Amino acid sequence: MSKKGDMYYAWTTDADLAKKAECGGAVSGLLKYALEKKIVDGVFAVTRGQDIYDAVPVIITDPKDIDKTAGSLHCGTLLLSKLVKKYLDGATNQKIAMTVKGCDMMGLYELAKRQQVNLDNIIMIGVNCGGTVSPVTARKMIAEKFGVDPDTVHKEEIDKGQFIIEYEGGHKGISIDELEEQGYGRRSNCRRCKLKVTRQADLACGNWGVIGDKAGKATFVEVCSAKGADLLDGAVKAGVIKTEAPNPKGLEIRAKVENAMYKLSDKWRKKDFEGLGEGRERLKKIVKETSRCIKCYACIENCPICYCVECSTKKPYLVKPGEVPPNFMFHLIRFAHIADSCVNCGQCQELCAMDIPNALFMHAQQVELEKMFGHVPGVDMSLPLLALVEEREERDRLSATGSDQIFDIFK
Ligand SMILES: Cc1cc2nc3c(=O)[nH]c(=O)nc-3n(C[C@H](O)[C@H](O)[C@H](O)COP(=O)(O)OP(=O)(O)OC[C@H]3O[C@@H](n4cnc5c(N)ncnc54)[C@H](O)[C@@H]3O)c2cc1C
Ligand code: SF4
Ligand code: SF4
Ligand code: SF4
Repeated sequence: MSKKGDMYYAWTTDADLAKKAECGGAVSGLLKYALEKKIVDGVFAVTRGQDIYDAVPVIITDPKDIDKTAGSLHCGTLLLSKLVKKYLDGATNQKIAMTVKGCDMMGLYELAKRQQVNLDNIIMIGVNCGGTVSPVTARKMIAEKFGVDPDTVHKEEIDKGQFIIEYEGGHKGISIDELEEQGYGRRSNCRRCKLKVTRQADLACGNWGVIGDKAGKATFVEVCSAKGADLLDGAVKAGVIKTEAPNPKGLEIRAKVENAMYKLSDKWRKKDFEGLGEGRERLKKIVKETSRCIKCYACIENCPICYCVECSTKKPYLVKPGEVPPNFMFHLIRFAHIADSCVNCGQCQELCAMDIPNALFMHAQQVELEKMFGHVPGVDMSLPLLALVEEREERDRLSATGSDQIFDIFK
């Protein structure tokens, strides 16, 4: 029997699925098994639409259709969590299994804290995530930097620090570092993201650490909960998934890559946050950028932290109706309500019609609030700061200032 912390090389025994899958097809094999055995009513995953740049969320109820969702789409910048609330009734009346990147998973935790989704009904199969590239940037990058027609590319991946494409007539790789220094590559929130291995999901799956004869043919699976262990054990017993012990050298490599990714994220955080300037300069920058806002509400609609029936930005006494750009209050309301819990998913930035770096502004604040209050969003069910005020903690915080004035905390 598996338990939390166990690690395996795993692969599907379904030859068709294995062909279409990214690595060993363990993720698709597990999803198919969960549907076949009626452990879940539906699977929520991502399928390829028009081309490799087009990632489409899909609900699958027939196990035969799981093969449509196999494979990783690195231009799939979508966030699945809020869709569960909006279109699947928060999984209140049905059980679902989902593939989740770090940000999908963090969004689910934040929605669950606000009672918008029921995690008891969701099996989260996590995938490691080194980052996603926006489809438009990817096309531009492939045309300009690789000198290849983006329509001839049939596979892309990010591996060993390179963005690699396979196209009609060959394959090419360019260092992600080099691409990003020149403004291409992963989304800026992904560069700053530190949720690389989804250990707060039920299983964490990836390709890091798979070496030797299993390289490319097995999925590295880390068991992260009893729910994950049951699913994996069941699938192995049913003969649909095979596992073996991971190569110890592979474990070492996996840990090294993970560490290197954290260092890289720290580098980008430093660079991005310092780029905002300090004090009045920072404020001016934020006011200037947000003054392009056309009040389309896309940032609010798509943020996994925004769950209100009617947003305060729509209250006439806070933000005057019929005025564009809105008063800075519009953005201050978002900062005040979200900054403590922002999971840096990037949706508010990517979907902004006016290219306002919303996620950067919010993430810069979240990181400072995390240092101040020690609250880490998206990784467990611990309540948001203002939903849980503890007398003891408040006393300690005040006494630690050595003053009887609360404003000293913010010095
Ligand atoms: C954007 C992205 C980046 C990744 N980066 C890394 C990495 O740096 N290091 C690493 O070790 N592993 C990474 N992975 C995980 C790896 O690519 C495989 O998904 C994992 O090893 C499972 O392999 P498999 O053959 O079992 O998956 P498969 O059986 O092929 O299943 C893949 C699953 O991922 C889902 N999926 C595809 N695209 C997306 C998307 N954009 N968002 C959410 N779900 C999606 C599919 O619907 C499917 O359920 C990444 C995955 C994705 C999606
Ligand atoms: S925010 Fe993190 S988990 Fe989400 S797509 Fe970017 S790198 Fe992956
Ligand atoms: S504020 Fe933006 S980056 Fe933060 S959780 Fe909301 S949508 Fe994601
Ligand atoms: S998405 Fe951009 S333009 Fe739309 S409301 Fe938000 S900040 Fe304003």
